[in-house]
Amino acid sequence: MPTLDYSQTYSCPLCLRGEIRAFPLMDAFGCDFCRHIFSANLEEQVLDLADGQVPRRWYRKGNQWITKDQETFWGYGLFGLILIILPTAIVALGAYCFPPLPNSPLSWLPKLWVVLTLIFHLIFLSWLASLYFQFPFASYFRLFQERFHLVNFRDDNNH
Ligand SMILES: [Zn+2]
Repeated sequence: MPTLDYSQTYSCPLCLRGEIRAFPLMDAFGCDFCRHIFSANLEEQVLDLADGQVPRRWYRKGNQWITKDQETFWGYGLFGLILIILPTAIVALGAYCFPPLPNSPLSWLPKLWVVLTLIFHLIFLSWLASLYFQFPFASYFRLFQERFHLVNFRDDNNH
C-alpha cells in the first residue's frame, strides 16, 4: 500500500517541525520550516535529502519516517568515538610515561594538554555531527526571534 505521493503533505523528517509538500510541477518536496529539499522515489517509497552534504534517506512507515541509513550512522558513531579516544589516549600516555620533573614551572602543562586535546576533538566531532544531521539551528533561531517579536507586539497592544 503506497503511502508516499505528491498530493499529500508530511511532517519533515529532518527538522521534525515543518511540513513538506510537493513543489508545483516538480518531483520534489520542500519543507516550509527548514527549507530543505527532498526528492522522492515513489516506487520504492523512499525520500532522499536532495540538498545536503551527506546523503540521508527515509521511508514511510505508518505516520512515521524511518531512517534508512542506520548502518552509516553507527559507522560514523564508531569513527567519532575513535576520533575522540585515540588522540586523547596518545597524549595522556605521553604525559604518563614521560612525567615532568616535580616542582618544575610547567609541570601542569601535560595535564592541561590532555584536557585540551579532549575538548577540541569533541568540538570537531560536534561540528561533523551537525553536518551529518543538518539540524536547522538557523530556522529555530528565526522562530525564536519571531515569537519574541510577537510577544513584544502583543504586550504593546495591551498597555
Ligand atoms: Zn524541515
